[in-house]
Amino acid sequence: MNFKNLTISDIKNILKNVSLEDFYHHYFEFLKKEDEKIKGFLFFTEKLAQKTIEELKNKPHDLPLWGVPIAIKDNILVKGERCTAGSKILENYIACYDATVVKRLKEKGAVIIGKTNLDEFAMGSSTENSAFFKTYNPFDNQRVPGGSSGGSAAVVSAGLVPASLGSDTGGSIRQPASFCGIYGLKPTYSSVSRYGLIAMASSLDQIGPLARNLEDLILIFRIISGKDSFDSTYIEKDKKVKLLGVPEEVFGLGIEEAVKETFWSFLEKIKKNFIIKKISLPSLNYSLACYYLIMTAEVSSNLARYDGIRYGLSSKDTNLLDKYFNSRKEGFGQEVKRRILLGTFVLSHGYYEAYYLKALKIRRYIFEDFQKAFKEVDLILMPTSPTLPFKIGEKTRDPLSMYLSDVFTVSVNLAYLPALSFNIGFKNNLPIGAQAIGNLFEEEVIFKFLKNLEI
Ligand code: GLN
Repeated sequence: MNFKNLTISDIKNILKNVSLEDFYHHYFEFLKKEDEKIKGFLFFTEKLAQKTIEELKNKPHDLPLWGVPIAIKDNILVKGERCTAGSKILENYIACYDATVVKRLKEKGAVIIGKTNLDEFAMGSSTENSAFFKTYNPFDNQRVPGGSSGGSAAVVSAGLVPASLGSDTGGSIRQPASFCGIYGLKPTYSSVSRYGLIAMASSLDQIGPLARNLEDLILIFRIISGKDSFDSTYIEKDKKVKLLGVPEEVFGLGIEEAVKETFWSFLEKIKKNFIIKKISLPSLNYSLACYYLIMTAEVSSNLARYDGIRYGLSSKDTNLLDKYFNSRKEGFGQEVKRRILLGTFVLSHGYYEAYYLKALKIRRYIFEDFQKAFKEVDLILMPTSPTLPFKIGEKTRDPLSMYLSDVFTVSVNLAYLPALSFNIGFKNNLPIGAQAIGNLFEEEVIFKFLKNLEI
């Protein structure tokens, strides 16, 4: 059996003639061997898969995901399995319930096959901040797969699994999807339940799907977002897609020549079916600064719960204060500590108004800037990342250069909007992505646009 690059419908067809046991027995062998090259999985959930297979025998075979393998980012809880968030502090933490998204996938017949690697607590753009190991880009093993959902993107891109779940706080689904040449959707804030997602910055976090195939991505989104694919009466926002806005500001924000060229030639290609309109989104110039204030503030408060007592790693100290300090000192990595410090600073007395409160006002301005743009155009198009997938180690010593790779993605989270990253071409065999940004709850409009694309 050839397991590589199977889509959801390929797998469902195979399972018409092959038993689940047979399929999964060989499939796990394939997964383990192939994952050696990219190291996208932190661990496999083989026992859980066996249990699911047993249960599936008594369930209707026409469930939309009956027997379909799905990989889950390791900051999303799967009951009875470890959930590390890529951190030493949660290395041995066992989830005691299923995240809503996992529950929904299981109800539709999915088999959870493993948990994927990520930057610690989803903080990063390369998966190099994982406390365990690095993941490699399937197109070039000297390069990063992007992050923080780098494992989820790499395993899909390498053809190991048709779809996975990731989380996106400032670009963590879209940027790795772009670096790995696949589709990745950051849904509208609140359209997918965050119950069971280990919080990074709660007003920005969203769970979303990654897939090689657009149909597969749409199916997973509809299942996890609460819409029922058996029910054709659900409400969705629909409108025509003709006018596409391209913000002029993106060409001034440290964009690499190869990305710019590929993006322009993509626009040239679609010109015959759409009207491309140059727009201005001046707020893009402030979005990165605003994101790094709001995100770190929320990180510092969300991560206060890891005190060595309630969750995870606990230092040997007997004195309470030492226990708090040392558990956090031993358990958190450098980037997580940096963000907690920054966040604590921006929330502290005397700085709160100057930094945090101002950032909230700028967030409102960013939101309104996008709303104004959507009065003029149906969707907004931008590159997903200003650069090609970069080399392993290239940005680890300079946090600011790493932060700059989020410059095109963070404003979408700040404005609560949905955005889908898709591949628009290659340079030196490295994938380049663009994102289609819709107004609130317009995921279906974005899907319609992509279905109509003739690239
Ligand atoms: N790369 C961004 C950051 O480091 C986004 C992370 C994310 O979306 N989880 O904050």
